[in-house]
Amino acid sequence: MSTGSHDYDQLTQKVAEIRDLERIAALSYWDMQTYMPQGGHHARAEQQDTLQVLIHEKMADPQLGALIDALREKITDPDTIEAATLHWLARDHKEATQMPPELVREKSQAASNGMATWLKAREENDFQIFLPALKQILKVSRATARAIKPDSDPLATLLDQREPGFSLGEINQLFSQLRDFLVPLLNNILHDGQPVDSGILREYYDPKVQWEAGFDAAKQIGFDLDKRGRKDISVHPFTTAFSPDDVRITTRLRNNYFPTAFFATLHEAGHGTYEQGIPASLARSVLGNAPSGGFHESQSRLWENLVGRSRPFWNYFFPRLQQYFPNQLRDVSLETFYRAVNDVKPSLIRVEADEVTYNLHIIIRFELERDLFKEDLTPADLPDAWNQKYEKYLGITPPDPTQGVLQDIHWSSEIGASFVSYTLGNMISAQLFEQARKVTPKMIEGFGQGDFSPLLEWMQENVHAVGRRYEPKDLLKRITGDTLRPEPFMHYLTDKMKDVYQLSI
Ligand code: ZN
Repeated sequence: MSTGSHDYDQLTQKVAEIRDLERIAALSYWDMQTYMPQGGHHARAEQQDTLQVLIHEKMADPQLGALIDALREKITDPDTIEAATLHWLARDHKEATQMPPELVREKSQAASNGMATWLKAREENDFQIFLPALKQILKVSRATARAIKPDSDPLATLLDQREPGFSLGEINQLFSQLRDFLVPLLNNILHDGQPVDSGILREYYDPKVQWEAGFDAAKQIGFDLDKRGRKDISVHPFTTAFSPDDVRITTRLRNNYFPTAFFATLHEAGHGTYEQGIPASLARSVLGNAPSGGFHESQSRLWENLVGRSRPFWNYFFPRLQQYFPNQLRDVSLETFYRAVNDVKPSLIRVEADEVTYNLHIIIRFELERDLFKEDLTPADLPDAWNQKYEKYLGITPPDPTQGVLQDIHWSSEIGASFVSYTLGNMISAQLFEQARKVTPKMIEGFGQGDFSPLLEWMQENVHAVGRRYEPKDLLKRITGDTLRPEPFMHYLTDKMKDVYQLSI
């Protein structure tokens, strides 16, 4: 991937060092969430601050800036790896130069302190414990946005970092279109749908066996857990990669609710396939990532829902699951089980929500973030505002903060368009899936025999292998010939719910 230019080689080397440090920071974070004893927190937080400051220093290095400028004059063909590298690197470098090192340290400290107090607040079920940290996180997030783009709306800047190329107006438009579709669909299901009994999912499921069943399913869909991956336990499931050949997923287990671990495992394994699919040649470059949070979520939501909650998947996997849990499932029909895992019901916890209400959880969070940034809402009033929105959109009120405003890990480190990627991911996943089906019509039949490779290979070739080479909107257009639209997701969900609930819509 060399232009033969000495400058380009030097640039590649500098970037590789930054990437190495980022991976080490990720390893340190992974350890913190999995095996580190509680007592290690303080020292680890300091180590994290040091790493973040080092990474920032290297990214803001004026020598790197000079190399970028010199090379941008030489490399003029926009459709090359080198040009894409310079495009993203120029952006990352400029952002780094705008950030004062003190702010980088402050941001890192706010995040470690946020994590510790958030965990404590959850344990004590007391939002007041978290409030001072939350105020600090909001302050630092706003300061970060102002530093990067002094003249822009801070929330718009933070959105553009997570979802490059998207404006707040577009998100508002997409979300309101989706909300106007979801609310009537939900009412339709609740009033006219054939009731679903999901009681069988709430029996005792031995966590050790759940662990094995999840491991099995993740391997079946093609996440390599033999030599290039690991699965561990953490309070909040996540995926991290130290290279495409070392990708770690985590899960959590609940004894009396089967879907928690199983679908979270498929979700993280979906992220994992993305990371394992990044070509080795890009791994140590700025292109060795997904182009946006939404693209990453498109892969996790794809395997969790479009595949993992589909009829063909369970045609194949249900008999296997019956062998894992003979006492619970021996006398349960496939149809009963399929409908149970697709049960739609307003519920409190986002990560366990069904496919219809899930996006309402996201819309609620987005609206709250918008109000916080507009200062229409103060952090102190967040729990009440949260509860009111749950009442308005889902007709339920969280009984306590742990099941309400304290449920997600995201705001313990930063605030600002932190959740939009999930809903964009749902939309992107439906568009990609539709396209993959057009190209490989027999793909879905294969699921019934446990053959998921045509879909995985299609994703590897079209999405993973490209890394961050294109802007997200551009990548979607190249793959599907279309812009991001909510309709494919809405059609998918309508068909699915007609099937599960025998609706006449
Ligand atoms: Zn995810």
